[in-house]
Amino acid sequence: MAEEQLPIYLPDDLRLPDFVRWPTFPFEGQFRVRPLQPSAGEEPPRQGEGGVDCAKCAAPDSEYLWADERWRVRALGRPSGLPAVVVLETRGHYDLGDLSNLLAAELGVMTVRLERGIRSLPNVVRVHVNRWGDGSEHLHVFFLARPKGFLQLRGTFLSMWDDILPPIPDHEWRENLTFIAAWMSEYSGEAVAPPPTEWAPSGQGGAHQGREPVRPAAEESGRSVAASEPPRPVRRGPRPAPH
Ligand SMILES: [Zn+2]
Repeated sequence: MAEEQLPIYLPDDLRLPDFVRWPTFPFEGQFRVRPLQPSAGEEPPRQGEGGVDCAKCAAPDSEYLWADERWRVRALGRPSGLPAVVVLETRGHYDLGDLSNLLAAELGVMTVRLERGIRSLPNVVRVHVNRWGDGSEHLHVFFLARPKGFLQLRGTFLSMWDDILPPIPDHEWRENLTFIAAWMSEYSGEAVAPPPTEWAPSGQGGAHQGREPVRPAAEESGRSVAASEPPRPVRRGPRPAPH
């Protein structure tokens, strides 16, 4: 049967959704919805499609906060408005629907483990977990920390607020990431903590510009410890049972 082009209703004047009146919506003033463009038909290729020239596959562990045999966690390249924004990735090249049962099950474990770690940061009350996948094919799941008490940041628009709010102090950002890396390394893999030096806003490109990894200095009972011994926040959240 020949593929049919589905008719798509393109209204001339799309109505503003109710959420523009929600207190969590970051903007105010007059808005107009952009006209909806007709379907492009074919989808453009995503970065790393089919594993070809995939930036995530090519990135060394030193660009990550933490890594084990099958999973890695990275940060965005600089502080942003939220206490922490990190990305969980598979080490191998998979899209979400390509995961084996083993990896699919581990995705659940890793998601819960990472959520607990981030939520244990001081003043973090909730962690939003998002997977979009329109930009690159290689599975990457975003974890966004929502600070306690800032009720305006609740819900859907948290990722927008992350761009809108002024970046948190560099040292706080590093402490938070180091804590998350140490948390994950208590279960498996290795923490690759960010350096204690100040991040230089060089504008020279590259998500990890200015970040030289600090390799774990000590290994004890198969667990790695971050070399810089950064100040570690007191854990507030429930301490998960090992595996
Ligand atoms: Zn890849």
